[in-house]
Amino acid sequence: MTQYAQVIVPVPLKQHFTYSFNPESQNVIPGIRVKVPFGKRSVTGFVVRVSDTIPAAGFEIKAIDRCIDKAPIFGENETELALWMEKFYLCSRGEALSAMIPNARRDSTAPLMDFESDEMNEKIDPTDEQKAAIEEILSGKHKAFYLFGITGSGKTEVFLRVAEKVISEGRQVIYLVPEITLTHQLARTVAKRFEGKVAILHSAITPAQRIKQWRRIKSGEVSLVIGARSAIFAPCDKLGLIIIDEEHENSYKSGSSPRYHARQIAQKRASMTDSILLMGSATPSLESYQMAKDPDKLFMIRLTKRVSGGQLPKIQVVSILGQKGILSQTLINEMDRTIRNGRQVILFMNRRGFNYSFHCNSCGYELKCPHCAVNLTYHKSENALICHYCGYRTAPVSVCPECHSLDVSYSGFGTEKIESEVRRVFPNARIARLDTDIAKDRNVISETIDGFRDGKYDILLGTQMVAKGLNFPNLALVGIVLADSTLNIPDFRSAERTFSLIVQVSGRSGRYDDQGKVVIQTTRPEAPAIAYAVNGKVDEFYEQELENRKQTAFPPFVRLIQIVFRGKNEQKVNEASSQVGEVFSESIALYRKPDELLEMLGPSECPVAKIAQNYRRQILIRGENPGRVHTLASKVLNSIKPMSGVYIEIDFDPLNLM
Ligand code: ADP
Ligand code: ZN
Ligand code: ZN
Repeated sequence: MTQYAQVIVPVPLKQHFTYSFNPESQNVIPGIRVKVPFGKRSVTGFVVRVSDTIPAAGFEIKAIDRCIDKAPIFGENETELALWMEKFYLCSRGEALSAMIPNARRDSTAPLMDFESDEMNEKIDPTDEQKAAIEEILSGKHKAFYLFGITGSGKTEVFLRVAEKVISEGRQVIYLVPEITLTHQLARTVAKRFEGKVAILHSAITPAQRIKQWRRIKSGEVSLVIGARSAIFAPCDKLGLIIIDEEHENSYKSGSSPRYHARQIAQKRASMTDSILLMGSATPSLESYQMAKDPDKLFMIRLTKRVSGGQLPKIQVVSILGQKGILSQTLINEMDRTIRNGRQVILFMNRRGFNYSFHCNSCGYELKCPHCAVNLTYHKSENALICHYCGYRTAPVSVCPECHSLDVSYSGFGTEKIESEVRRVFPNARIARLDTDIAKDRNVISETIDGFRDGKYDILLGTQMVAKGLNFPNLALVGIVLADSTLNIPDFRSAERTFSLIVQVSGRSGRYDDQGKVVIQTTRPEAPAIAYAVNGKVDEFYEQELENRKQTAFPPFVRLIQIVFRGKNEQKVNEASSQVGEVFSESIALYRKPDELLEMLGPSECPVAKIAQNYRRQILIRGENPGRVHTLASKVLNSIKPMSGVYIEIDFDPLNLM
């Protein structure tokens, strides 16, 4: 006898769909994935209910093609979370479930990360500060904690001890880290400490392996899950603790729809399961810092001392305004001294490539990507001009394409140029570079990092990759080659980012002694983000940046929604954004209370107005009352009919407005 299944399908429609199946040949049960026809396509759906009766039909019911799973891989907790995401992020439940549950592709098995047991298993005695923090967290007096500790204050040990306690009570732990391959030092420690009970969800494992780990977690065999952003969805039915390490990191926010933030999901899951939420960083996000002003919402615990007893490094700012060349004499001298002392150097620059702009001195022509509204970057090693947004590449030019003048120049520099400069100045030094151009292969990342730790190089230079969560005992000098490059991005978070970057990168230097030094090169030494970081005035920076955000009505004081319209036809994109803009302004006029801050900005061009041949316009909605902003936006957006050729991307609490 035919039976019926309620299936959630990954399409932007906010409903379940009914499919039929034959129980004699198909073992369809709630919690499995199935292949179902949808329109002309075949898609992966998620079965949530099964019944004998046709649910009030009146439409044609199609049959399930086949089952993907034998046993359930999700349950009511996951469905409930997906429904919450649908409301919160204005996506569909199918899009939410697809983001949560690993993908189905069958594939060959790549090796799992190998964790040699080479670590000396030294038992760590917590310091008084660490002890007090652990006790506070386990006291049960609060539910959400922020471990605000300077770099090297031993936050990890606090996390692990709290995790041990929670696990000993029979509950599970999710431990989020920004990017697992970069922190495999930590993954190794964790794998050892909780041997046999750990699932590691790093980005290099295949979808098949991910599913396998997912099942182990679901079965309760796993006590601790460690992984990047999407590990927040790990199906722990006995969840008791969620840890978010380096909470300020941007990688916790998803770059595609639904654009969830792992912190928000963590808050929701913790309250659904009555779990402890434990976040930590030396540089909290402004959101968390502000939230902690109410200890009932978020209880902040400070770690003020380095466990090694060492001092924070001395930071020196060098103004390079009007200076020629990339490395100042101060930085060169410090590098030279450090290497001669047998110590190591890290140089940081957040831009890759050789040069990033081409300029004709005769006619002013700038070379841009033909598909995007951005400059092309010159990559010397590949002898190509490359677009960092769409990947377009073309041969370098030495003649202006516009006026044929030979008076052209390349300017602006990235890691590749720095490398060649460093090799010129330090011909005998052993130098390694790490950025996404070099590290296309993930093994290269860990080999380079391990090599540096083992003393194979004197100088490591690169992008963010060299800056994150790493401990190098012999590192004594960190150089930030150009702090302006983050500061000058026209975005409301650029000061926050610059500050956090300087503090984080500096924190790598001289962890185990008092010899650490940091040199920051900038043309704007007086910029608050730099000045506060240099003087170690962390709270002062937060207070004044919060004041800025309040004055300019940006998060965390408003809820901000970015709605991006994109499409290949510029006129259609313009029309769509104006239409939706009109609906918004009418609705706001009706809905807004007197004196309430609730407004629309735009429609206007996005700061990057074209990417991969798609024109981009945006509307920003912001308001002081998060719930009301949400209600308004969902009413308006749900009333809009799809427009052909124009895609709408919704971003709640965007990390940047580019
Ligand atoms: P943070 O994350 O706060 O920057 P880590 O957790 O990375 O700092 O700790 C820095 C180093 O100190 C690590 O190598 C860790 O093993 C060590 N450590 C942590 N706690 C102690 C302690 N109580 N005694 C000695 N060493 C410790
Ligand atoms: Zn020209
Ligand atoms: Zn491009």
